[in-house]
Order: sequence, then C-alpha cells, then structure tokens
Amino acid sequence: MNKSENETTVFSPKSPGDILIIAGPCSAENEQQVLSTAEELTKCKKVKIFRAGIWKPRTEPGNFEGVGEKGIDWLRKVKQKTELLTATETATPEHIEICLKNRDAVDIIWIGARTTSNPFSIQSIADALKGCDIPVMIKNPLNPDLKLWAGAVERLLKSGIKNIAVIHRGFYPFQKTNLRNVPKWELAIEMKSRYPEIPIINDPSHIAGSTEYIREIAQKALNLNFDGLMIETHISPEMALSDAKQQITPQALISLLKGLKIRTSSSGNAEFLSKLEQYREQIDSLDFQLLELLHKRMKIVEDIGEYKAKNNVSIFQLKRWLDITITRKEFGKQIDLDPKFTERLLQLVHRESIRLQSEIMNKNKTK
Ligand code: PEP
Ligand code: MN
Repeated sequence: MNKSENETTVFSPKSPGDILIIAGPCSAENEQQVLSTAEELTKCKKVKIFRAGIWKPRTEPGNFEGVGEKGIDWLRKVKQKTELLTATETATPEHIEICLKNRDAVDIIWIGARTTSNPFSIQSIADALKGCDIPVMIKNPLNPDLKLWAGAVERLLKSGIKNIAVIHRGFYPFQKTNLRNVPKWELAIEMKSRYPEIPIINDPSHIAGSTEYIREIAQKALNLNFDGLMIETHISPEMALSDAKQQITPQALISLLKGLKIRTSSSGNAEFLSKLEQYREQIDSLDFQLLELLHKRMKIVEDIGEYKAKNNVSIFQLKRWLDITITRKEFGKQIDLDPKFTERLLQLVHRESIRLQSEIMNKNKTK
C-alpha cells in the first residue's frame, strides 16, 4: 500500500494493519484546553499524532488568528505528558524557523490549503526547510488543481524533505453543497497514483464542515484505501474559537473510530485472491476488446473523414451528433448504464473523431 508497510516512518499507524490517526483541536487556544484534549486523546489507543494550529490562516481578518509562539510551550508539555507526536501548521519561513528551533515541542509540521495554493509561499517554505529532516504534511490547495498540490510536493522533495505525507481536505465548492468543501475523490486518487510512496491522509473535518458528515466521509476514505485520517477533536467543541461546528470530543472520536471498517488493499485469504484474479482477468479481456472496438471505430471515422474531404462536406453535422447521443443514451439506459456516463464517454469519443477528421481535412487542404 505505502512504504509504511515495509518501512516504519513517522506516518506509519500505531499498530501494523491499522491506519494513521491524527487528532486534536483546530487551534491551540489555551494551555488547559490543549493539555486536557491531549490527555483525553491518549484514551484512544489509535491516535498517534496530536494536531493543534498555533498560527491560524483565517479567510477574514478579525477572527481568532491563533496564539502564536506561546503555543509551542503547550505542545512541548503534550510531548512531556503523553506519548503523542505533535504537529502544527506553518505558513511562513518565520513559522518554520520557530518550529525548527523547538524540535522538542514540534515533531511534524503541516502546510495548509491556503498556502499550498500559492507557489511563492511554498517555495519560501521549501527554502526555509532546505537540509532539514522534519516531516511535512501537505494539504491540497483550495482549488481543484492537481498541479499545484503536486508542485508543492516537488518543491519540498527538491529541498531534501524525505518524510512527506499529503492531506486531502477537499476543494472550494463553487456550487452550494451540504459539505464545507467538495471531496473530488478522483483528485486524491490521482495524487496517490502519482506518488504511491507518499501516504495520503483524509481530513473529513474540513470536508464536512459539520460533525454530521464526518463518519461517512472517513469511511469512504477507508474504502478507497487512504493511509490515515486527521480529525479535529476538542475537549469542548461548542466553546472552540475556530471551526466549532466540525470538531468532536475525544470520546466521540473513540466511538467513531470503533464504527469504521478498515479495508486492506489485499487479503491473504487464498479463496478471495483466486476469485479476485478471475474477476481481474475478465476486466483485462473486456478492456482489450473495448480498445480494439474503439480502434475499429476510429478507422471508419477516418474513412468518413476522407470521404467528407473529397466531397467538401463539413466535419461536424449537428443532426447526426444529436441522433448519436439520443440513441446511445437510450440504449445505455436499457442496459443499466448511467446516462451521464454514456454521455461523457460519447463526448470523449466524438472529440477524438473530430480531431482525426480535422487532421485529414487539413492534409487534404495542403495537397
Ligand atoms: C486546519 O487544519 O485547521 C486548517 C486551517 O485547514 P485547511 O488548511 O485545510 O483549511
Ligand atoms: Mn480547522
């Protein structure tokens, strides 16, 4: 699944076969809140990393912007009183410098979504981290741009940071939704395929924006084989100075984790493996048949292109395209294919057909 399967890193779960759990308040507010939350969290045997933001990037000014450097002492106390590792958010080279000076208080840093969105900020952080060995977690940027997220990973790798994890916290919703941020799971999966060695952690708290959807999102992440979860946890959520609606108590975290079903990327069970192998063989064979059929279709599309070029007929014929869409979607529905999927597939095939025919037209023009 990830390198933690054979090699233990700071991002490996507490026990093998489990997942990494990061929990703690959105913000460190005062010493008592930090320490009591951490102490309660030690009752949850799965929690390995304690998170608390001491510098808070707020969208609007005037909101609680974090306690700043004095929160470092509270994180140090968490480490002295518990076995938890500590993590906090850094957004500037000054934050990095303070954390690096206090490695006995801060084990891990994370980069927030607003910062990942800005390559200048990421580069200045990467420069400040050059040659350091502090583990870094990189949240996805606010906008669904995989290149920005991957860009941040690349900049940190170039700086020599070896222990990197990425955090999927969802993307800015351009339409009204029940969730604070849209998950766009496909982007997280794409990130995992690009960097199979880098653990991917889901942050259901910032996706949900309210406690009500956290369980469902966390379970979906586990179904998709995520390596860990970061869940905002506060000793008294209703009093929280930031993100009050989405924080849960340590007790609620324990019961939430108990209810989650951890899925593995494979099972040692021989019967399961042989059945899975059979299914995969069928899929392989069908995929090759699909590609062969598409090849045949494209060959005919090319012949039509030549024919249209010779007869001076335009490539795009609206009536024909509408006919294709209606008849295929209807047929798709009869065989239980989602009409939206059929439409997307047809559009893709149609775009490629137009590209091929345009090439033919252009060739004919220059003859
Ligand atoms: C946070 O983790 O509290 C935070 C500010 O998150 P994000 O960067 O995902 O908004
Ligand atoms: Mn938060």
